[in-house]
Parts: sequence; structure tokens; C-alpha cells
Amino acid sequence: MNKIYLDNAATTPLSEEVIDAMVSVLKNNYGNPSSTHSLGQAAKILIENVRRQVADYLHVSPAEIIFTSCGTESNNMIIKSCVNHLGVERIISSPMEHKCVAETVLDMKKRKGVEVAYLRPDQKGDFDLTQFEALLKSSDKKTLVTLMHANNEIGNLLDIKEVARICKENNALFHSDTVQSMAHMDLDFSDIQVDFASCSAHKFHGPKGSGFAFIRKGSGLKGIITGGPQERSLRAGTENVCGIVGLGKALELYLNNMNEYASHIKEIKQYTIDQLTKKINGVKFNGRSAEKDAGLYTVLSVLLPFKDPMIGLKLDMKGIAISQGSACSSGASKPSMVMMMILDEEEMAKTTPLRVSFSHLTTKQEIDSLVGAVAEIAATLQIENANVLHR
Ligand code: PLP
Repeated sequence: MNKIYLDNAATTPLSEEVIDAMVSVLKNNYGNPSSTHSLGQAAKILIENVRRQVADYLHVSPAEIIFTSCGTESNNMIIKSCVNHLGVERIISSPMEHKCVAETVLDMKKRKGVEVAYLRPDQKGDFDLTQFEALLKSSDKKTLVTLMHANNEIGNLLDIKEVARICKENNALFHSDTVQSMAHMDLDFSDIQVDFASCSAHKFHGPKGSGFAFIRKGSGLKGIITGGPQERSLRAGTENVCGIVGLGKALELYLNNMNEYASHIKEIKQYTIDQLTKKINGVKFNGRSAEKDAGLYTVLSVLLPFKDPMIGLKLDMKGIAISQGSACSSGASKPSMVMMMILDEEEMAKTTPLRVSFSHLTTKQEIDSLVGAVAEIAATLQIENANVLHR
């Protein structure tokens, strides 16, 4: 059975061109980029070309890009070094963050005694920036603000330009987890005064195990992996040349086709909203994900009007790979923190969240299969519930 893949916020399939570029590096560019001979230097040039390419995309200097193994490592490095090396005593974050940020913030609270304050979202998943500014001003402690750009479960976008402005005005450092938005939209960090950001190649058809951290020049941030002087001594260890080249190729392909990809995905997303609304009575959509041009275009967070914790498994058995929320939490028995924040008790008890996340490869036929499968599951549940009532 051909799988239907609707879990692109968890990861994306590799593009053929990315595979070809990586295989070529594996075969031909085995030199260690730290070696001074020509084979080593050829590998070094490949890395530096990608660094320049990433820097051009973000309108920053190549020296501000540090290659890492993933988004999780980038976020860990930034938050931990802010506390360990930059004197941060307070962190302002939110309950909507990805686990790799949330757990790292908690770790800094437990092990380093950092004060942590959380901004609460409203029912749409948005933050009140006036409240945020008041919270920022409420203490003289050196503060790091860590708030994600695009939420991985409901797709809400934060106004990072305005948050960065407020942070600058109040002398706070600003880190944004940009893993879901990187490559999917234009980001100009010469205009958006964020201090630190993160990227993961596998979210835009690049390889797993390859990402980078953006670290603004002069910030004084240090690495958490010590050893050799690679990556300006900020990330020791022989570079993943093949992974970095894969990231570069994936970024090039995405940026060259961004308008075409985005318009295809937006059309498919609207089709999904229309079909679900037509076929599933009482369906709702979470956060800003169903609003035109409001949330991240790749994510649609659906709220199904029935309770079925097994829905992911049932859809998988029908050949559809899809998540209810974040891939990192989907094996957990606890409900997602994001859903707990935006849904009331009754909704939590009577509904089922489903995250449809698209790519440029998603087709209307695949959406028809999804909607048909969900309608079938809903009808079966109705019959089962009626049988229980008649027993
Ligand atoms: N941040 C967000 C918002 C994510 O969605 C993810 C991946 O799911 C990560 C961070 C972690 O990235 P990685 O899988 O590269 O560690």
C-alpha cells in the first residue's frame, strides 16, 4: 500500500537532488575540513559555501551561522550558554514551546536556579505583547526571552520583529526557535533584531541530523560541546560535511521554489478546510491555522467533534501517516500542553485534535482519502456509541 504522508511538520521526505548532492559528497569529499591538504580544504570549501548561502538568506554575516546536528542542539546550546556564560538569571518563555526548549528552560531552573516566567496564550494561541512588555519590565534581572516563531502544533506565528524590538528596548536577549518557519518564509535578520535562532534541515526536505544556530555577532555566546576549534570553537567535532551540503541543497531548492510551493500548499490547505467542513459535522480548527495568511501555511490544526485517542493508529492502518500533535510528544499518554492551553475542559473531554501538515508534494486526492477515512472513523464511533446506549 502506498502511504499517504501528512506529517510534514514532524519531518519531510528528502528531495532527489538533495540525495544526489549528499551521495556525491559521501563518495568524493571524504577529507576532514580541518586538514590543511587539498582534500580537506575541498570539504571546507563546501561547508563555507553553504554558510554563505544561509547567511545570504537571513541577511546576516556568514560568521553568525554555526552548523549543529539539529534544532534541538541549537536551542540547547543557545539557552544553556545564555545562562552559563552570559549571566542570564531570568527566562521568559511560554507553555507553547517545543519540548527541546521547554525542557532546557526547566533544566536551567532546576540546576542553575534561574527564575522562569511563562506568558499564557489566549484561546487562539496568541500572546498579549503589552502584558509581555510589562512582565519584561517587572524585574531588573538579566533576562532571556525564548519564544518560538511558528508553533509546530497549531502554526500560530509570533510577531518576532515586534518582540525583538521590545526586548532590545528593555535590554533583554531574544532567542526564537525558528525550526518550523526557516526556509518556508523570508526571514531578514538585518531587520528583525533577534539575537539567536535555530534551524533543522529535515523540516524542508533536507537530511535529519543537520541544522544550524544563528548567533548574532558580539553576543559572547559560547558552545556546550568542547574540543577542537571547529565552527569558531562554538561547536567542537568534525563537521557533518554531507549533512551540511544536504541542508544547503534543500535550502536552495526551497528558496528557488518558495512562491510556487507556498501557493500550492495554501490551495491544498483551503481544500482540506472545505472538505472537512463539508463532511465532518461540527469540525473546528485550532489557533490561527485555518485563517487565510494568518498562521504558518504548512500546518492545519483540526479539532474533531468526537473523542478518539486511537485516531492516529486507525488512520495509519488505513495507510495515512499523520500526527495528533508534536512528534516528540505523540507517544506520550498526557495530552499536549498546547491543546491544554487553548481548549477548555469540555473540549478536551469531547474532541480529538489532528494535525494535518502539508508539503508541495501533497495532492487533493490524498486529502480526499484523509477526509473519507476520518468520516468512516466518525461513523463507526457513532454506531459503537449507539450500541453501548442500547445495551
Ligand atoms: N523546534 C520545533 C518547533 C520543532 O518542530 C522541532 C522538531 O520537531 C524541533 C525544535 C527539534 O528539531 P530537531 O528534530 O532537528 O531536533
